[in-house]
Amino acid sequence: LEAEAFTARFEPAVTTDNVRIEVGANLGNTSHAADAVERGAEGVGLLRTEFIFMAHPAAPDLDTQVTEYKRAFEALGPGRPLVARTLDVGGDKPLDYWPVPPEDNPFLGLRGIRLALNRPQVLETQMRALITASEGRPLRIMFPMVKDVAEFHQAKAIYDRVVQEFDGVDVQLGVMVEVPSCALLAETLAPHVDFFSIGTNDLTQYTLAIDRGHPRLSGQADGLHPAVLRLILMTVAAAEAHGCWVGVCGELASDAQAVGVLVGLGVHELSVNARQVPLVKARIRRLSQAEVSTRAEALLSLATAAEVREAVEAEQ
Ligand code: PEP
Ligand code: MG
Repeated sequence: LEAEAFTARFEPAVTTDNVRIEVGANLGNTSHAADAVERGAEGVGLLRTEFIFMAHPAAPDLDTQVTEYKRAFEALGPGRPLVARTLDVGGDKPLDYWPVPPEDNPFLGLRGIRLALNRPQVLETQMRALITASEGRPLRIMFPMVKDVAEFHQAKAIYDRVVQEFDGVDVQLGVMVEVPSCALLAETLAPHVDFFSIGTNDLTQYTLAIDRGHPRLSGQADGLHPAVLRLILMTVAAAEAHGCWVGVCGELASDAQAVGVLVGLGVHELSVNARQVPLVKARIRRLSQAEVSTRAEALLSLATAAEVREAVEAEQ
């Protein structure tokens, strides 16, 4: 499959029954965008902008950020979207120049959008830089670790102020679904957002209460756990009712056993490490959406991740 996948990497990923799934790349460094395109990525599905901040001794100013983001937009060309996640620090990703008071539980502390909302001027500069760099090309901005619509609205208020400075933008606003409450309440968010991007790494960690980096337990933090699958389905159902699109940008999106499950649950986009793009596209081309959707429904009534994996294995 690998050789075949590589040859067809620039072809779209369309199921045997004609459902197109977008396949994008996850990036932490905008200088890798050109390579992602060369591997067949149809956009950047997750730009982890915190790595740009971590690479600087102090918060990068507007011009520095514009230069960074422009590099990605230029590599992508006019048609491929860039999904940028606003600064996601705290928890496992501390930023030296923004020390957070010691916390007993950093993963449940000041992190993600909560931390960014504490420094609204940083969020404002970041969104101004992103929109400036986009020059009308498709930009999708999403906020990390959002727990409910109130948090989204706080972040959106900043965006609304900034976007007024520009004409002719192509921007969509979304949230990452990585806190269980966000999936459980997706119905209340869907009328307000353009898209959801499911961060299965954190969503699994918070649903199963297992530290994703735990040396002994992380193996049990399996995104194919039926509890996680139910949250994904809730998100997709809410999105469909309100015309939003749904992507998955966590590691699960490149798991060979999970691609069919995610497509079966009705996800529209997968974003994976650039190296995996050709293979993920090839896997999608072998699926029938109708078939995987019937199978995915059956998985939801299982009790454990092991049962899900066994069932998927048996079908492959
Ligand atoms: C996730 O949580 O699944 C995700 C994509 O974000 P990160 O891995 O950067 O926390
Ligand atoms: Mg995350």
